[in-house]
Amino acid sequence: MSKRSTPMRPSPISATVDFEADGVQHGFLKLPISTDESAWGAVMIPVTVVKNGEGPTALLTGGNHGDEYEGITALLKLARSLTANDVHGRVIIVPMMNMPAAMAGKRTSPMDGGNLNRSFPGDPDGTVTQRIADYFTRYMVPLADVVLDLHSGGRTLDILPFGASHLLDDKNQQRQALAGAKSFGAPYAMMMFELDAAALFDTAVESQGKVFVATELGGGGSSTPERMAITERGIRNFLIHYGLTDGEGEMPAEPQIYLDMPDASCYVQSEHTGLLELTLALGDTVSKGQVIARVYDMTRTGAEPVEYRAQRDGLLVARRFPALVNMGDTLAVIAEVVESLD
Ligand code: CA
Repeated sequence: MSKRSTPMRPSPISATVDFEADGVQHGFLKLPISTDESAWGAVMIPVTVVKNGEGPTALLTGGNHGDEYEGITALLKLARSLTANDVHGRVIIVPMMNMPAAMAGKRTSPMDGGNLNRSFPGDPDGTVTQRIADYFTRYMVPLADVVLDLHSGGRTLDILPFGASHLLDDKNQQRQALAGAKSFGAPYAMMMFELDAAALFDTAVESQGKVFVATELGGGGSSTPERMAITERGIRNFLIHYGLTDGEGEMPAEPQIYLDMPDASCYVQSEHTGLLELTLALGDTVSKGQVIARVYDMTRTGAEPVEYRAQRDGLLVARRFPALVNMGDTLAVIAEVVESLD
C-alpha cells in the first residue's frame, strides 16, 4: 500500500454497476478525463458482475497489458455466457484493465505511456494508468477473495501456457494460491520469480492477504485455438476450484509439468542489437552451456554471430517473439523442472 501519511482522496473512478446486486450486469468503470478530443470525457473500462447470493468473490482480470489477447478474448466470451444461476457468490470480470492500452493494441497506455503492471499500488492524483491501478488496489481487490490475472507474452514474447503463484511469507496464502495455479490445469504450473515485484498487481493483491493466481498463456500479439482452449478451460477450472461454480475440473491429458524459477539466472538478456535466431522451441529441454540463441549483425555479411548460452539446465519457457532484438531484450527464459512446487 501507499507509504504516504496524508489520507488519500477517493478515486475519481466510479462504477456504473452495483457490485452488491444479484443478477448479471454489464457496465463500466468510468474515469473522467479532459482531452482535445473530448473536453468532458471519460475512459470507459468494461466490467461485468455476475452475482447470486452469498459466497466468495472471484475477480477475473485480463488486459493488464493491452496486447495479451488470450485472456482478453476468453473473458469477453465468459462475460457473455456466465449466468447468475451458474454462480455461488460473485464473479467480477474485467477483460481489459488497461483499456486505453488494449484499444491501441499496445502493452502500455497511449495516454501516458503507463505500464499498468508497473504502476501499483497506484495514485488517485496520478496519471490515467496510476489512477486505474489505485482503483483496483483500493476498491476492486477489497471486494475479492481470489484474483485470477490472465497474462501472456504480448507482441514481444511467446510463453508456455502455465498457471503461476509466488513464494509468500504467509504459507497458508501461498498454499491456497499454488493449489489454484495447479488447478487452472494448463500443461505447466510455475513458482514464479519476478524481476521486479514491487509495483505489480500481484503484490497489491497479495499484500491484502488475498489469493492471487497469475497465468502466462502464449503471446506474439494474437491467439491460437489451442491456447484459447487452455485459457477457457483454465478459467472454468479456477471458478470450480474456489467454489464459485459447480462441476468437475478438467485437467490436461498429460501430467502437469512443474516449473520453478529460482533466481535471475533464468533470464537470458541480449547485450547486442541485431537479428535473433533461437535454436530451441518453447518446451525444449536445455543444458547449461548449450547455445540457445545467435544474434547476427545485419549491417554486414561475413561476421560471426554472437552466441548466447544457457546459464542453467531446464526448459525453454519463454522466448522473444520478434526476430529483431535490441540490447537488454529478454531473448529466452529457462525454468527448472521440479518434482513438486510445495
Ligand atoms: Ca503480461
